[in-house]
Amino acid sequence: MTLKDLSKLCIHTITTKPWTIEEAAEKYNRAGVGGITVWRDALEGRDIAQTGDMLRKHQLEIVSLCRGGFFPATSEQKRQAALDENKKAIDEAAALGAPMVVLVCGADPGQSLSVSRKQIQEGIESLIPYCEQQNVKLAIEPLHPMYADTRSAINTLAQANTMTETISSPWVGIAVDVYHLWWDDALQQEVMRCGRNDNLYAFHICDWKSPTEDMLLDRGLMGEGCINVPQIREWVEKAGFDGLNEIEIFSNHYWEMDQDLFLKKIINAYQEAS
Ligand code: ZN
Repeated sequence: MTLKDLSKLCIHTITTKPWTIEEAAEKYNRAGVGGITVWRDALEGRDIAQTGDMLRKHQLEIVSLCRGGFFPATSEQKRQAALDENKKAIDEAAALGAPMVVLVCGADPGQSLSVSRKQIQEGIESLIPYCEQQNVKLAIEPLHPMYADTRSAINTLAQANTMTETISSPWVGIAVDVYHLWWDDALQQEVMRCGRNDNLYAFHICDWKSPTEDMLLDRGLMGEGCINVPQIREWVEKAGFDGLNEIEIFSNHYWEMDQDLFLKKIINAYQEAS
C-alpha cells in the first residue's frame, strides 16, 4: 500500500503529555507531522503569542485549542464563571493563532440533561459576539454517553447537528471524534448532514480498546481496537472535510513509554490503520 504523507497528520499535545510543548514541536517537526492541537495546560507559564510563533517556526499548523465548554451548572454563579473561563480560552486561541476552541460542553448531575443542553446552547450563543471580535470559532464535540453525568450532555452527532443548526452561526461547528461516536448506527447519515451544513470543523482519531481498562485514560492507537477508522474517515471526507486528522490519545499506558518510540507508533498507525 502507499503510505499516507504526514501533512494531514495533527497531534494533540496531550497525546505526548510527558513532552513540553517545545519538545513536542521539535519532535513533531522532525518527524514531518503537519499540525498540532494545543491543550491549555501545555501553555502554562508561557507567553502564548511567542509560543504560537515557535510552533509556526516548526512548520506546524495550529489546528485547535483544547478546550472550552463546561457551561451547565445548577448555580447561576458557576454558569457565569464558565462563560468567563470560555472567554479566556478564546483569548488564548487568538493569541496563539488557533482558529478554533474545541468545546467539551459539560453537564451537571444535579439537573436533567435537557436543562444542561439548554444551558449549553445559551452559553454558546452568548459567546458568539466575542468569537467574532476575536476571530475564533467554537467546535462542539459530542462525547460518548458514558460521560453524560458530568462531562457532556451532548452525546450524539445528531444532537450536536441539531444544536449547531439551531444556533446557525458561522462561528459554531462540530468536532467529530471517532472515540465518542463510532457506535452510533446513524453516524454515516449524521456525518453527511454535518458536512452538508458546513459544520464539520474537526476530526479526532484514536481507537476503542477492548476491554477498556479506564473510562478516560485507556484510549488506543488506531488499529488496536474495534473502531473502523478508515470507514469513518471516508465518510468525513465524502462529507467535504479536508482538514487535518487529529490524533488525540489519553493513555496512562502510552504516557509511561518512551515518547520517541510512541511517536513512531503513532505515525505507523496513522499510515496503516486510519
Ligand atoms: Zn476529541
